[in-house]
Amino acid sequence: MSEATQANFAQSAMVRVNRSARTAASIAATAALCGLACNALAQSGSDDAAPEISVLPVQGGIYMLVGPAGNVTVQIGDDGVLVVDTMGTAMGEALLAAIREITDKPITFLVNTHAHPDHIGGNAVLAEAGSNIAGGNVVGTIADAGATARIVAHENALIAITAAAEPLPFEGWPTDTYFNDRKELFFNGEAVQLLHQPAAHTDGDSIVFFRRSDVIVTGDIFLTTAYPYIDRAAGGSFQGILDSLNRILDLAVPADRQEGGTMIIPGHGRLCDEADVLEYRDMLTIIRDRIRYLVDQGMSLEEVREARPTLDYDGRYGADSGFWTTDQFIEAVYEELSEMAGETAG
Ligand SMILES: [Zn+2]
Repeated sequence: MSEATQANFAQSAMVRVNRSARTAASIAATAALCGLACNALAQSGSDDAAPEISVLPVQGGIYMLVGPAGNVTVQIGDDGVLVVDTMGTAMGEALLAAIREITDKPITFLVNTHAHPDHIGGNAVLAEAGSNIAGGNVVGTIADAGATARIVAHENALIAITAAAEPLPFEGWPTDTYFNDRKELFFNGEAVQLLHQPAAHTDGDSIVFFRRSDVIVTGDIFLTTAYPYIDRAAGGSFQGILDSLNRILDLAVPADRQEGGTMIIPGHGRLCDEADVLEYRDMLTIIRDRIRYLVDQGMSLEEVREARPTLDYDGRYGADSGFWTTDQFIEAVYEELSEMAGETAG
């Protein structure tokens, strides 16, 4: 085959993989709908079926690994393996096995998008299986140097991990944190940027931008399976999530007719492009404006709920039961907007 034919062949094969994986991802998304709640189940040991992880080649060096309760992103190249998020504790071994199915390169970096248990549970297993890049003199001088993968996260994620009621084993704690607006790595021949998103899903969210592969990993700022979970107790806010979605839209560049181009991997759900994020951002903006109007009318939370401000989106994103219901989502937005209205009035 000529190079051009090979490239075409590879491209069409990838499209086929993408299509079938999208179907697989949408099936997995049903399981992922309950997000953290599923993870809580898995962690309590009631999920004894062998966990299934599907592997989807995205583009460049990036793979998306879809588990029953969320997504992991893996970047593979000559330098080694970088893993973004590690699923729940019960998934650690299965995740390691899934990565070993696609590469035997050393796991060098783990990145945590935030501190929720369904994104960090496999940290210890993967870190112990990995190795980092340590300079010649350090190896042998410090016993542990070079023996485990580095775990990178925003400082607030580390604080949340160490303060958790049931903290991760120490081997799973981030070793490499940042406290300003970004951290930059250069790995496998590409720039990798961690961009802090203040007060979004939590107070310690990073989105991860693989610049050469042109893939953005959003963590739980963006989901295709549910309304965004605003963890106000962990410093999250609805406005912060909207700001982050706008940041992602700024970074993403579509290819043809607003399709393709930059690929976007959500915390839970299927592989997306910019148009999907745009639709989600618009939906949240519309809901925000509706609830703000009702707040401005002086309505109580109960009255706002009865007005059904999310009705036309509930079929796709709503939930009556489980970890994050439509009622909880409306309440979180209502409280935030009421506080803002109070501040403006006062
Ligand atoms: Zn989360």
